[in-house]
Amino acid sequence: MPIVTFKEQEQVLKYRTDTIHTDKQTKRISHTTGPATCPLCGGLDGAPHILLRCNNHTLKRMHINRHHHAVSLCGEEIGKGKLGSAIVTMDACNSEKLSDLNIEPPDDKERNIPDWVFPTQQNLPSRLQSRPDGVLVMPIEGRGRHLDPKQIPPKNRDIHLVELIICSDIDPQQTLEKAHQPLIQRLRTRSLRGISQNNQVTVHVILLGVGGTI
Ligand SMILES: [Zn+2]
Repeated sequence: MPIVTFKEQEQVLKYRTDTIHTDKQTKRISHTTGPATCPLCGGLDGAPHILLRCNNHTLKRMHINRHHHAVSLCGEEIGKGKLGSAIVTMDACNSEKLSDLNIEPPDDKERNIPDWVFPTQQNLPSRLQSRPDGVLVMPIEGRGRHLDPKQIPPKNRDIHLVELIICSDIDPQQTLEKAHQPLIQRLRTRSLRGISQNNQVTVHVILLGVGGTI
């Protein structure tokens, strides 16, 4: 795991103790009343705002990079384990490096689910489908031992969608409601003869609190 710098630790502690530098904090110290306004986007300022919701271009890019970096770390770790060969997509590009070079991270391309994962092969255009952070395909237990996910017949596939969400440490529930239901429906095989013979699709949500307590 990467080393957390002293500066980063300091900022996390400030966030946890609600003393991070924001307009809200400035108003509190100077005993000024009125709504706290974000100097970058004009939104309602506060710690969760700058860490999660600010619309400023630079901050948004930092938020995207933080998310991609976390997904890359998860992908790396899964890749080392026994599920490594089951990974079909996992946001693996190191967007932080790209961003350092002032290149926009390619948010869409790497996250597309390949057509072969869909049982009907009639996939919707990628812009119309939700894109989980990771897709793993393995055989359902007792129905084959293929190591290459592509070789597993659609009805025997055990499909796992991974979604990593960076959320506020105090109220993750609302972010959990983001769903991939339409995508799940399209990934399912629908043999009516043997319902128990159909594939399985599971969503795994990884929640990461910005303050490090989840
Ligand atoms: Zn803002």
